[in-house]
Amino acid sequence: MRAFIAALFVAILAGMMWMDGRAQSAGPIVSGAHRFEKVTEGVYYATASGTMNVGANSPILVNDDEALVIDSEITPAAARALVADLKAITNKPVRYVVDSHYHYDHSFGNQIFGPEVQVIGHDNTRRRMLTNVMEQYTYLSSVQPVPARVEALKQRIAQESDPQQKAALERQVANSLAYLEQVKEIKVTPPAVTFNDTMTLVRGGRELRLLYLGRGHTDTDVVVFLPKERIVCTGDLMESVISYAGDAYAEEWIATLDKLRALDFDTVMPGHGVVFRGKTKIEAFQKYLRDVITQVTALRKQGLSPDEAAQKVDMTAYRNEFASIRGVGIDPAAVRRIYQLADHPEPAR
Ligand SMILES: [Zn+2]
Repeated sequence: MRAFIAALFVAILAGMMWMDGRAQSAGPIVSGAHRFEKVTEGVYYATASGTMNVGANSPILVNDDEALVIDSEITPAAARALVADLKAITNKPVRYVVDSHYHYDHSFGNQIFGPEVQVIGHDNTRRRMLTNVMEQYTYLSSVQPVPARVEALKQRIAQESDPQQKAALERQVANSLAYLEQVKEIKVTPPAVTFNDTMTLVRGGRELRLLYLGRGHTDTDVVVFLPKERIVCTGDLMESVISYAGDAYAEEWIATLDKLRALDFDTVMPGHGVVFRGKTKIEAFQKYLRDVITQVTALRKQGLSPDEAAQKVDMTAYRNEFASIRGVGIDPAAVRRIYQLADHPEPAR
């Protein structure tokens, strides 16, 4: 609820800034279900507004002859909305899509792009998307809780007397039900152009270096580095919020982030959260990961189950850098994953 009101407020604010922006040519551009923040000439950060189920944020690179989209969003419907809404910033056609990694909220819009569009990703993204990703935990954790959430919302609607609050809750129900409808259309579509270490695209005056820096958030994470613009698009390898770690390789993630920090950039465009500057947040996240591993390893030695351990892990020391940390305890999926890798190490492939 609070999140929804916040989203609504942001949307209204963004709308005001947009109107203001037309006069002063500054501020984000709101178009349909998306908000486009101009980061530099021809580089935009697309965020879905509260009107649909929110997946990843997509960096958009408008090159001389075409647009390149990083991450195709959470459903085919969301991807179609993104392509339509892009018209507010460019009339150039989308010719490239880069999957930052294989997760549903970044790649399940791939299928809407025709043969004229190259969908690019890591070899492992393709390999994983050729397996039953729709039956695996990460995706299921997005759809399975929805019916219960809808029921809970309906109960609150029945008790709510304020018409505005009621309308907001009803909107949440509608969005959730729309998501359950939208997912029925998904046909998992892996990238057709893949690489293992690096790939360079030179499009007009812009050089894009696609880099695989090692295992981290997943074993599929690709970053897109723009050396001239000193920008790096990091997907979920590095977010401005705490990244999901249910598929992660926590120990290797720290080393992979060392390689990320070694790149020469000022600006990070992450898969979730907001655009941020500098490398301080990356260092903080490395320390966070180190601390999670240390605490989880100790709790595992004490014989706690992953879910018990998850309630005890205390990351509140990192609140300043990551405001989403509200109290003691972390996502049980992250802890289960650390236990899983301790019991069954996965050799790199
Ligand atoms: Zn992810």
